Amino acid sequence: MASIFSRIIAGEIPSHKVAENDEFYAFLDINPVAKGHTLVVPKQEVDYIFDLDDDVLGRMMTFAKRVAAAQQAAIPCKRIGLTVIGLEVPHAHIHLIPITQEPDMYFGKEKLTPSQEELAETAKKIREKYK
Ligand code: AMP
Repeated sequence: MASIFSRIIAGEIPSHKVAENDEFYAFLDINPVAKGHTLVVPKQEVDYIFDLDDDVLGRMMTFAKRVAAAQQAAIPCKRIGLTVIGLEVPHAHIHLIPITQEPDMYFGKEKLTPSQEELAETAKKIREKYK
């Protein structure tokens, strides 16, 4: 059965898209730890990120770098933090999180619950900065 992220990429489940190319898809996390928290996902469905081929992983990181630049331009923050957890959804993904201090990256805190309108507005701002 397709993962929830494959279903998002296929458009079967709605998402707030930030960027896309032929190999990767970036969209807002629905329960962000910080405003603009974005997930970068390979269209190839692989559970564990370090099972990706080296060249795919390299291109995924290059794609993430461009998404991070767009986030940095759109969201007030000091920089974009990057983490890989992958315990909840078995489809490789990178978390890109706008941060101003280290606790902004802490996943143990209560997550934010932005409305669909807020998510749409944030995604639009990042999308407009993506080059
Ligand atoms: P993890 O697999 O531990 O890296 O966590 C998966 C992340 O995916 C969590 O931060 C969830 O909030 C996020 N997530 C799960 N379902 C969706 C969805 N339908 N749209 C956007 N983000 C999601």
